[in-house]
Amino acid sequence: MKTKKININNENDYNKFLKKLFLYKSFFYYNTRFVVDTKINNEMLTYIIEALNIKKRKERITYIYDTACKIIDDATPKNMCGFKNGKCYLQRSSKSNKCNGCCRKCLYQSKEGCPTKNLACKLFNCSEVKSRYNMIRVEDLKLLRLLSLKNQMIIKSDYFSKREDVLKDLYAYTLTYSTIRVVCRLIKNQYLLKKDVL
Ligand code: SF4
Ligand code: SF4
Repeated sequence: MKTKKININNENDYNKFLKKLFLYKSFFYYNTRFVVDTKINNEMLTYIIEALNIKKRKERITYIYDTACKIIDDATPKNMCGFKNGKCYLQRSSKSNKCNGCCRKCLYQSKEGCPTKNLACKLFNCSEVKSRYNMIRVEDLKLLRLLSLKNQMIIKSDYFSKREDVLKDLYAYTLTYSTIRVVCRLIKNQYLLKKDVL
């Protein structure tokens, strides 16, 4: 395997490196191991290099997904939604009857909160939360640029799903197949939720 050294001395170099990611993630660099020599302290750079050095498609997607979830979890304030008795800021202020420990009713919600890792849900913050905290935005997660355009779309819209299902949507090669999976799952989950309520 060949080695490619990336020199990053300042933010300008880092931005140039980000612009070249579309090339570094391509099959041209399948047999290349990346090493970085950097003078800047940037954790995201470490994650990107780590991901570039994972050459198996599914393993790279899984690493990117789990790392993005972890970055958000580590930066999320405790009880940022102000839950009291299962109701968040918005649900309490609108006197909503919904009491489910999340933005909306979801099949996976439990008394302990969300039992899975859904990146779209983690990236969603309502105006109330945004007015209180500086939350991580999708644009901050430069690591996600290593995903295909199809997967960058999926990752922003695949709400109300278990981590394992989202990963299967990401592993799929076409947007059509992933979209069919997402829509079928949403319909099935809505049906199961209604059945549960009745
Ligand atoms: S993001 Fe907003 S609407 Fe969703 S649970 Fe938190 S406070 Fe409530
Ligand atoms: S998957 Fe999303 S909507 Fe469902 S419980 Fe988890 S965070 Fe809430």
